[in-house]
Amino acid sequence: MAGVVHQSAQTVVVLGGGVGGVTTANRLRRRLDRRHRVVLIDREPDFSFAASYLWVMAGTRTAQQVTRPLKRLERRGIEVVVGDVEEVDPVRRTVTVADHVLEADHLVVSLGADYATDSIEGLGEHGETFATLGGAEALAPRIDSLVKGRVLVVTAAPVYRCPAAPYESAFLIDAALRRAGVRSSVEMAVHSAEPGPMGVAGPNVSAAVTSMLADRSIDYRPSHQITRVESGRAQFADGEVEPFDLLLYMPPIRSPKVVAASSLATESGWIEVDRGTLATSFAGVYAIGDNAQIPLSIGKPLPRAGVFAHAEALVVADNIASAIKGRPADARFDGNGGCFIETGFSKAGYGSGNFYAEPSPRVTVRPPSRRSHLYKVAFEYNVMRRWL
Ligand SMILES: Cc1cc2nc3c(=O)[nH]c(=O)nc-3n(C[C@H](O)[C@H](O)[C@H](O)COP(=O)(O)OP(=O)(O)OC[C@H]3O[C@@H](n4cnc5c(N)ncnc54)[C@H](O)[C@@H]3O)c2cc1C
Repeated sequence: MAGVVHQSAQTVVVLGGGVGGVTTANRLRRRLDRRHRVVLIDREPDFSFAASYLWVMAGTRTAQQVTRPLKRLERRGIEVVVGDVEEVDPVRRTVTVADHVLEADHLVVSLGADYATDSIEGLGEHGETFATLGGAEALAPRIDSLVKGRVLVVTAAPVYRCPAAPYESAFLIDAALRRAGVRSSVEMAVHSAEPGPMGVAGPNVSAAVTSMLADRSIDYRPSHQITRVESGRAQFADGEVEPFDLLLYMPPIRSPKVVAASSLATESGWIEVDRGTLATSFAGVYAIGDNAQIPLSIGKPLPRAGVFAHAEALVVADNIASAIKGRPADARFDGNGGCFIETGFSKAGYGSGNFYAEPSPRVTVRPPSRRSHLYKVAFEYNVMRRWL
């Protein structure tokens, strides 16, 4: 019949069932008819929304509220495989999971990042983290019962996920302690490896967050890399030792093991992509989210953030669907996005703009408001309810 395009059935394999993977799989399922397979693979049976972990830590969400079984995606016709991705061959577009080899016509790699907590001696043993769901859950009663002492929040080079998160953790703890009427007997400090908060978003955002820390009487020590932790004592690169009763850390990250071991990885271990299409140098293979390294004009990479993983996923899914339908694949990720900065008391600041702008990202920051907090709630709703 004239005008009808007969496409052969295609298989799209999505590695990782986090923000990037779940968004990609859903979008593809909506764009493609059921002849085409969409397969999503993750080692965990459940998706959990990391951007809500801080609310779990602060006691305003339960772990259950921010977790969904990935198998729910099967209702929509997405095939879900729970298993460890052991090997990725981007040339043949094959993936090995539990000794089975899957072949893909199109492959999307969204395996996130591995925590490199072990790179700092004693950090995992003597510190607590809100960067895992279990860690955030374990912290909730500790913060709730805190009445005095010294809370230290640290970040560590070279890179970590979500530049706002460690600062948000300090604001949320401060708010909880104020509500409990014990803030005056708890000292709080943030020691960051970076020279200023959220530096990638520019000096305005950095200055705004620094001043918010001062307003909340949270001591701030920039360019202070933690090197070693023992019971109640944290040591820094300049030899200084800081005492603490509770140490919270944002772990440094490294590329996922299976990615670093594949030919997808550059020397740094991360995957280099075209910053508009997220295409790798291998035909039909894309990388999005935390495992992709996108250099910006200022020499730093695009921050590892769910908002970017989400936006990149939509671009990649649309272009794959277009390619399958024989249409121009013209969707592009333009570097626009924003980071919420939760400050407690149901308010958040919001730094947003264009991270691809030249000569440096053009990002403006909105002061804390209830409206920005509600935008973050909407982001959570969008991912948890719409995609799962
Ligand atoms: C505490 C915290 C707060 C945050 N807050 C925000 C925020 O407010 N806003 C924001 O935009 N971003 C935030 N982020 C960052 C955001 O969560 C990440 O950038 C986002 O999840 C990245 O999505 P992704 O798909 O690349 O990776 P992920 O969501 O991490 O998904 C990767 C998936 O791959 C799976 N996987 C890894 N290796 C394998 C393997 N070998 N085999 C099988 N499966 C594997 C993992 O199990 C995981 O499910 C926050 C992060 C943290 C830790």
